[in-house]
Amino acid sequence: MTEPRVPLVGVRDLRKRYRSGDTTLEVLRGVDFELAQGEFVSIVGQSGSGKSTLLHLMGLLDAADSGEIRLDGVRVDGVSASRRDRLRNTAIGMVFQAYHLLPELDALENVLAPLLVRHGIFEWMKVRRPMRDRARALLDRFGLGGRLHHKPRQLSGGEMQRVAIARALVTRPRVLLADEPTGNLDESTGAEILDTLCELNRADGLSIVLVTHDAAVAKRADRIVRLAAGRVDDACHASPRKAG
Ligand code: ADP
Ligand code: MG
Repeated sequence: MTEPRVPLVGVRDLRKRYRSGDTTLEVLRGVDFELAQGEFVSIVGQSGSGKSTLLHLMGLLDAADSGEIRLDGVRVDGVSASRRDRLRNTAIGMVFQAYHLLPELDALENVLAPLLVRHGIFEWMKVRRPMRDRARALLDRFGLGGRLHHKPRQLSGGEMQRVAIARALVTRPRVLLADEPTGNLDESTGAEILDTLCELNRADGLSIVLVTHDAAVAKRADRIVRLAAGRVDDACHASPRKAG
């Protein structure tokens, strides 16, 4: 007998509406979604279908009106601000279309920033050496070993996104949430970023949720989930896991 596996991320009946003036926009109308440990899932849907809203809720950047979000079976919606910040600094890594690097910091400092936040300035003195090694190893792996002290403005789009991915992973999160990570990149640079994500999934078992409006990008994942009319469209079936 095998126990049913608890999903790494479990979303149940998630609802979110935005009010502006006297109109209410119901963006998510009861979304159910699961991500298994080690899985790579794409969430697709038209512009405005609520993909970013859903990803931001899973990343604890915003609060839903109702519904549940679980990580390893444990409710993470509605937790205290300090617990939420802790989860965002340990369990969840996020990557965005516009990179969101800090312009005054170089690549290495950008990657180290979440660890500095985690440890605080005094403890940092004790841990900085292994942490710098960890950050450097990630940047090396992403081909940026020669760009450690470049500021974001001195980097190409693809390089900035790889720095952003390194920053998301330096905390060793359980899950990587990526919102249109190739949206600002040309096709071949975007393909390289997707190669990197696939490699992290296949080689390291990193669990990934990738939001995209681009069907060709979405196909790189093991499974595609479609958002439409505020819900997961059940007519869209899982794609088989690709070989290799
Ligand atoms: P997608 O990422 O699929 O393009 P979003 O999740 O960004 O869609 O947005 C879904 C809908 O919610 C859009 O119509 C958008 O205009 C609206 N929306 C998103 N964020 C807000 C907000 N903070 N306030 C009001 N409306 C919002
Ligand atoms: Mg979006």
